[in-house]
Amino acid sequence: MDDNDLFLAMDVGGTNVKAGLVDSRGRILSRRHFPTSSSRPPVEVINDMVAHLKALAAEAPAGRGAASLAIGMPGWLNQAEGLLINAPNMPGWSNVPMADIFGRAMNMPVRLENDTNAYAVGEWLYGAGRGLANLIVVTLGTGVGGGLILEKKLWSGSFASAVEIGHIPLALDGALCGCGRRGCLETIASATGMRRLGREWLLAGKPSLYEGRPDELTTKAMVDLARDGDEMSLQVFKEAGRALGRVLADIFNLLGLEGAVIGGGAAGAFEYLEPDIREILAERLIVAEPEGVKILRSQLGEDAPLAGGAALLTGRGLQRPRAPLSPK
Ligand SMILES: [Zn+2]
Repeated sequence: MDDNDLFLAMDVGGTNVKAGLVDSRGRILSRRHFPTSSSRPPVEVINDMVAHLKALAAEAPAGRGAASLAIGMPGWLNQAEGLLINAPNMPGWSNVPMADIFGRAMNMPVRLENDTNAYAVGEWLYGAGRGLANLIVVTLGTGVGGGLILEKKLWSGSFASAVEIGHIPLALDGALCGCGRRGCLETIASATGMRRLGREWLLAGKPSLYEGRPDELTTKAMVDLARDGDEMSLQVFKEAGRALGRVLADIFNLLGLEGAVIGGGAAGAFEYLEPDIREILAERLIVAEPEGVKILRSQLGEDAPLAGGAALLTGRGLQRPRAPLSPK
């Protein structure tokens, strides 16, 4: 790897796509942000993506063209074939040969990666997780995602998947989860779960400073209200923090991790979640002193999967480095 190398990276979500031109130290030289518009057919969205990627490639400084592309996607992948098998939040996106399509369109090798894993590698190499050998990166968004770094390598198991921390059950009779089971962590601690808890509080007529419609409540509004001492927001964050603490304590005990980085769209609630995570760790941690593990807020935010995707193109942090797929 050369310090002058440049990479293209794209993070595909159900709502938005982020793409960037990234250097070999994870710095984003230029970026694009555009809607996925999940109501449109995938072929139209893919044409948009290619147009944005080509524009980004054209912004590379003279003599420093981007040579490969990383694509982070939610869902079930066949990574060896560069195939998206399906993406639960993206209707119509099943059996899409992503590496093949983008490899031909961009005329460069492509690496298809789980989006949460790319996020985790970005935070570990360039963000809040720098210097830790064993950590979990947790994203609080529509669901709760997890990316695991073990002994300075991304752990993605035999199925190129992220760690499904969001579906660890906390209560067998809890709220119904998108996975079809009940009481999963993400029914409480995802942005969706926190909004649900807040809505239920409001609909029950309990006191709150919130004046909008219950179905328009956002985690950002709850963070703002929590600053003013809003009872609803503080109680929801307490519940979410305790749920995260219970699952993190089990994972720390199981794997001997040094820390967790909390990111994703609802990471703005970090200051309210952390004390409760810490309190539960103090009760439940067996393998280390509670003060000996780190609970950190994401530093890169939505740049994390771009920086991480670019790093993965070089094989950094991989258990079994494999060259990106070249167009056939
Ligand atoms: Zn679930």
